[in-house]
Order: sequence, then C-alpha cells, then structure tokens
Amino acid sequence: MSVAMGPREVELAARELAGRPPEDVLRWALDTFGPDGVALACSFGAEDVVLVDMASRIRPGVRVFYLDTDLLFPETYETCERVAARYDVRLEQVRPALSLAEQAGRYGDGLWARDPDTCCRLRKVEPLRGVLAGLEAWVTGIRREQSPTRAGAAEVEWDHRFGLVKVNPLARWTWDAVWGYIRAHDVPYNPLHDRSYPSIGCIPCTRPVRPGEDPRAGRWPGFAKTECGLHR
Ligand code: SF4
Repeated sequence: MSVAMGPREVELAARELAGRPPEDVLRWALDTFGPDGVALACSFGAEDVVLVDMASRIRPGVRVFYLDTDLLFPETYETCERVAARYDVRLEQVRPALSLAEQAGRYGDGLWARDPDTCCRLRKVEPLRGVLAGLEAWVTGIRREQSPTRAGAAEVEWDHRFGLVKVNPLARWTWDAVWGYIRAHDVPYNPLHDRSYPSIGCIPCTRPVRPGEDPRAGRWPGFAKTECGLHR
C-alpha cells in the first residue's frame, strides 16, 4: 500500500485527472510521490519515449527503468543509448535473476517457444516485482486503444497485482497523437516502428504486423497470449 495514497485517494485522483493532458498527470505523479517514490517503466516503444521526453522536461533526473531480458532487438538497445544520451533521467537497467544459459540449463532451450508465460515470469514479471516493491507508484505507456484488455485503463488506478499506484498518462491518447508528439519534439524512437513493428518486445516473440492486423498481433505469434503479465 502506498504511504501517500490508499484506494480512496486513488479513486479521487482518478476522477480529478480523467481526460487531463498527460503532462498534468505526470506532474501530479512526480509531485505526489517524489523523486524516489515513482519511476517510469520504459521498453523504448513509441509511448515510452514520449513519456521520457515529457517527464524529463517536468522533472530532470526522473527515475526511468527498463527490463533487460537479454533478448531485446539491437535496435532497442541502440534506442536506449540514444535516450540516455539525450535526456537527463536516472536510467536503470533491471535484469532477470537467471542468465539465458542458466535458464536453458534449468528449463531447457527456447523456453519462450514452449512456455512463454514461464519465460515472461522469469525474465520480466519477477524482475519488475523487485523494482516495484521499492516504489509507491509506477508510470506506464499503456493506452486504451492498444488492446481490449487495456480498454478500461484510467490515468490513475490502483494496481492490485503489484500493490501500488499505476499512472497511465497516455490512457486516452491515439497512435496518431503519440506520433504527432514524437515528430513535433524530434523524440528518438525505435527504428523498428518504421518497419511495421507497432509493438516491440523480445526478438523470439515479436514479428512485424501485416496491413489491417491488430497492432499487438505481432506479439507471441502462435500463442493466445497478448500480455507479458506486467499489465492485466
Ligand atoms: S517476450 Fe518472449 S522471450 Fe521475452 S520474456 Fe516473454 S516469452 Fe521470454
């Protein structure tokens, strides 16, 4: 439970911040939880780089973390380097407990192709749980139009899964609004977005989408899975 907020306060904040510009929501989160109580989760997708740009303008030195699964695209690591060079943020790399070799030794090779839920738990969810345990709130780039499971996202909500406040400043933004911001502010972005990858995760579990496909159709192709387990 956040020391600054309980479910009642979260509900009031959600009502007050509903439909407000993302910068207002971010400013509220950064003021409410302070420099160490809140961090931005970044996977270097289009939404995340927008939030890094906004947050670093509002509060230089803001905490930003990324989950390094050891399986990210070279383009994602390059985007990480460009973001680190451009912005005044405290960028933290979060790693799984097991190396890829250790995971293969314990669970066999290519776990992602047989049991992506376990692979995501080991390489994403458990490392995330470790970071969030030290925070009162986290900021994410989820948007309502990304998928049916995200359609009810509010700007501020209680994250029952991880037990802290979840802030989604872009909840009501469209894909076009995200790209309008990137172009207007010349924000560095993952070049895979220009090659039909609207949603970018680990190499084995991400493919480009075809025209007319759902933007998240390129994640975990061949499985019913649509989320890593970070957002439910
Ligand atoms: S996205 Fe794929 S490779 Fe990455 S952690 Fe999940 S299952 Fe493993």
